[in-house]
Amino acid sequence: MHNIPHKITQVTTRIEKAALHANRNPQDITLLAVSKRQPEDAILEAYRSGLRHFGENYVQEALAKIERLKLPQAVWHFIGPIQSNKTSQIAEHFHWVHAIERLKIARRLSEQRNPKYPPLNVCLQINIDNETTKAGVTPEDAEALALQITELPNLKLRGLMAIPLRVVIPQHNDDAFTRMKQLFKRLKKHDSLSTIDTLSMGMSTDMESAIQQGATIVRVGTALFGPRTN
Ligand SMILES: *Cc1c(COP(=O)(O)O)cnc(C)c1O
Repeated sequence: MHNIPHKITQVTTRIEKAALHANRNPQDITLLAVSKRQPEDAILEAYRSGLRHFGENYVQEALAKIERLKLPQAVWHFIGPIQSNKTSQIAEHFHWVHAIERLKIARRLSEQRNPKYPPLNVCLQINIDNETTKAGVTPEDAEALALQITELPNLKLRGLMAIPLRVVIPQHNDDAFTRMKQLFKRLKKHDSLSTIDTLSMGMSTDMESAIQQGATIVRVGTALFGPRTN
């Protein structure tokens, strides 16, 4: 009905081409299927076609899907903004959190993560365009926050994520992605930040530029599932 297998082929072909163009191994790039506001049958179809990583933005919606679908090998990524009253549900039901921007939220997630589970994988959201209204830690403050997060026992700092400003010509995101790559490289050199291996950037329209600049996770919604419902 949704023709998801065909769209998965299209997207994985785009990823492979971009990787080869960048002299990278396509296997070093994880396709994160952004399933927010997409129907459960579409997610199931994507899972049956082999996708394993799913991204959600809204806690209530995500928990309903996770519990109803019960996909044994699915890896659930929380990619939306995090409210402090939702941290315990996120800590319990997700494997990854992409949009950490404050120590307070990170502390709560660590305290609320069951220590019997593997640590929660987290990325810092970087406000790469230095927008005053937008979410994320500034590039200047990223290292200090990263170092504080490495002290939290039930989190594993994996890397950085960004949502660059939406631009008319997707290629123009190259600048933001290039700055992300530089910040990523700089942080990784730090002795205490050796767990960093993830650069989460690139979406349906700009995954090629993100891959060119070193993205290891691309977060793709509409190119896989079509338009979202309201
Ligand atoms: C919705 C969303 C995406 C997917 O966007 P598409 O344009 O549908 O590919 C990726 N990342 C984040 C953080 C999102 O909220």
